[in-house]
Amino acid sequence: MNILVINTGSSSLKYQLFDMRSEKILAKGNCERIGIDGYVKHEPSNGKPILKDEISMPSHSEALNIVIQTLTSEKYGVINSLKEIHAIGHRVVHGGKKFSSSVLIDDEVMKGIVDCAKLAPLHIPANLMGIYACQKTIPDVPHVAVFDTAFHLSIPNYAHVYPIPYKYYEKYDIRRYGFHGTSHRYVSSKAIEFLKDKPGGLRIVTCHLGNGASLAAISDGKSVDTTMGATPLEGLPMGTRSGTIDPALVYVISEIEGSLPLSETLEILNKKSGVLGISGVSSDFRDIMNMAEFDLDEDRAVGEVEDIKDVERARLALSAFKYQVAKFIGAYIVALGGVDAIVFTAGVGENSPPIRRGICEWLCGFGIYLDEDKNGHAENDKITDITKAGSSASVLVIPTNEELVIARDTMEIVKNIS
Ligand code: AMP
Repeated sequence: MNILVINTGSSSLKYQLFDMRSEKILAKGNCERIGIDGYVKHEPSNGKPILKDEISMPSHSEALNIVIQTLTSEKYGVINSLKEIHAIGHRVVHGGKKFSSSVLIDDEVMKGIVDCAKLAPLHIPANLMGIYACQKTIPDVPHVAVFDTAFHLSIPNYAHVYPIPYKYYEKYDIRRYGFHGTSHRYVSSKAIEFLKDKPGGLRIVTCHLGNGASLAAISDGKSVDTTMGATPLEGLPMGTRSGTIDPALVYVISEIEGSLPLSETLEILNKKSGVLGISGVSSDFRDIMNMAEFDLDEDRAVGEVEDIKDVERARLALSAFKYQVAKFIGAYIVALGGVDAIVFTAGVGENSPPIRRGICEWLCGFGIYLDEDKNGHAENDKITDITKAGSSASVLVIPTNEELVIARDTMEIVKNIS
């Protein structure tokens, strides 16, 4: 059985086509920087060439068309026709309280997902676009929704209730849900496997640091707290999202901007804040790091940097990000009663030694240290132990694989209906 997994994020569309007999990836790829400029990477595993190209993709819909054409193309393809796709697993960001596990998509489920859009306005529309487009193009196969929130439904009530009037919790289901659940579930299970010699139920803080970012506190394989909340706006500062701020700022910003409507104020917090807001450079960490590393003395004459403030703001954005990640790790060491492992994953967590180092510098008070040399040599596609000898907790880099979790859940559901 071949399963296509579609994972649409706010500026990306990742896909993987699995042969589930062996869980082998037939092809995988990523459309990045959607809505900014557009870049496609497609890697077939059958010896055909890798495609890397800058292709304009103003929306997720265009990105999906490119994926489908590429998967079936003579030059880069791995299947002859769409008939060789037997089921599709869709990552869906928010399942509210309604979806506590993965489900086969029907009209009722679609309605339920649409209902969740008010809680994840940045993501659910992209997820729905992916589902609609796939249903239209490949209508005769089962489509399964796998929810980011499901893993966090184990968070105890004292950690998921908000201190606001109780009716909102009781009647309107407003509570902490958390996101990136498939990623936290996958990397924590990998860490448990990797640290199998450590006794007892492990206490792990997983740091999913990408364009969206969240931490989870995981005790004995179960999520007991996470930084994102009822919506993916809470918690860490992200590419464009503010993360946790004083809630009264919603009013203050609206007033400053001349009684801006609530929806537009939230747009500022969702799309113009985070490291983009502080730096003014970009939502992309690589762009910000390039600016922050700019040698002011040597290169200003070239004219690439208009203002020293651009460099200072880029540095400030990175410092604020690293500080907030470390601060939440500290909070989760309390939640877990100690910690056995810190796990870094996702775009920034897997690929940026300076960010990992900057975060861990804040943790030396807990006796947690990473090894500089190992940190600089974390390998792609492999678990890398970057712990310094004598550290009180392991520090691991674990590439996430949300797609495999989605493919496995899809397979389980499809097996049960056929
Ligand atoms: P994700 O949402 O997991 O795809 O992560 C996307 C983010 O990872 C973007 O902000 C990228 O700039 C960032 N990223 C990818 N590679 C690197 C790298 N080598 N160093 C720093 N950030 C990176």
